[in-house]
Amino acid sequence: MPVAVPAHLDPAESWDRATLEAFQLTQLRKQMSRLSQDSDYYAPLLRRLGWDVSELRSLADLARLPFTYKNNYVASLAAQPPLGGFMAVPRSEVQRIHFSSGTTTIPTPQFWTGTDLERWAQLYARHAHSQGIGADDIVQCLFSYTWFVGGLGATAGYQRTGAMVIPAGSQDTERQIHTLFTYGTTVLCGTPSFITHLAEEVRKRGLDPAASSVRTIMVGGEPGASIPATRARIEALWGARCYDAYGCLEFQPIAGECSAQDGLHLAEDFAYAEVVNADTGIAVKDGTPGVLVLTHLDKQAGPLVRWWTGDIVVRDQTPCHCGRTHARLKGGVRGRADDMLVIRGVNVFPSAVEELVRRTPGLGDEYQLVLDRSVRDAAGFMKSLHLRVEQIDTAADAQQLATQLAQEIKKVLSVTAKIDVLPLGTLTRFTHKAKRVVTEE
Ligand SMILES: [Zn+2]
Repeated sequence: MPVAVPAHLDPAESWDRATLEAFQLTQLRKQMSRLSQDSDYYAPLLRRLGWDVSELRSLADLARLPFTYKNNYVASLAAQPPLGGFMAVPRSEVQRIHFSSGTTTIPTPQFWTGTDLERWAQLYARHAHSQGIGADDIVQCLFSYTWFVGGLGATAGYQRTGAMVIPAGSQDTERQIHTLFTYGTTVLCGTPSFITHLAEEVRKRGLDPAASSVRTIMVGGEPGASIPATRARIEALWGARCYDAYGCLEFQPIAGECSAQDGLHLAEDFAYAEVVNADTGIAVKDGTPGVLVLTHLDKQAGPLVRWWTGDIVVRDQTPCHCGRTHARLKGGVRGRADDMLVIRGVNVFPSAVEELVRRTPGLGDEYQLVLDRSVRDAAGFMKSLHLRVEQIDTAADAQQLATQLAQEIKKVLSVTAKIDVLPLGTLTRFTHKAKRVVTEE
């Protein structure tokens, strides 16, 4: 199918590589000289290392600096409560603070100045525009508006494209459906789990989501549109095109998918990206999975240097059909370095299991990976998978569905799996971030 090529919103999106890299180096030098003066965290660190900005002769020189990990950030908050040592601007210049969801540590804050908020909206608008969103669109935003970055960031970005935004949030399914059909929503953005759940609820009311006016869906916050079977399922349910987006609390946004739907363009004029081996920290070749490490090029409040995202990505710098030159993350976020299960030496990401579950006819979208005694050997190492799934086709034979999925997992992932096929609706639904791996001892 030929892909329409929308004009780019920002000339930076199609700079040639040399122009882009020269820009990155200039920005990086400016940022690092500022941080070596103004950052309570980086200034003493750089002094201790005897590092001076004159050492930054090329982009590759940045790799001589240490990574910044989440635990460095948390320790800094403990040492200088409640704001920590990363702010790097006077408190009076900070206009917004958001918090992490606190799933692994206490909720941590991040900061934005007025300029940072403008930049965020502009970058978000760029991604939305590359998906053909504009003034005729009505965006129903299903990201949460409280604490976390989702809802407010998306709203500012879509408004910048000229679209009308309904700040719907991630609750109240009944009202969401009513609004969607009453106002003729054309764009949905939210987590893939909530958008799938919403389609199920629309169907339960005897309506067809594909008959709604929704034509574009942008998902983020968890793996989704980059898993082919999940994308196909969402697109079929809604009769719409589904795009993936990637950001985190510390970097908003990181990358977004264009109309070519062939990987997510990194915002390379906003963040300098490295992809490194999870164990050695050394850069990997493009095309090889590695941990994404990001450095803010122009963020004023709370800038980070060599931030260890923990997300596994595969980078591709070859030109995209859309004409944009910024490198793409092929297959989106492949998993978390710390979510990766190692089973008899084989690396298995929950997203790879998700692809196989959703490809199996007769099974629903939900699944759960159970870490219990049955999956471990005597030494405590993982030897197999234990998976809970739901049966959507009540006429099918549950045992047969289990066997079929186990065979696929064996064939594709080379690991054995015990499958529990449960009635539809048994597993917990998540409206924000789905928790796919549960530990039961
Ligand atoms: Zn593209």
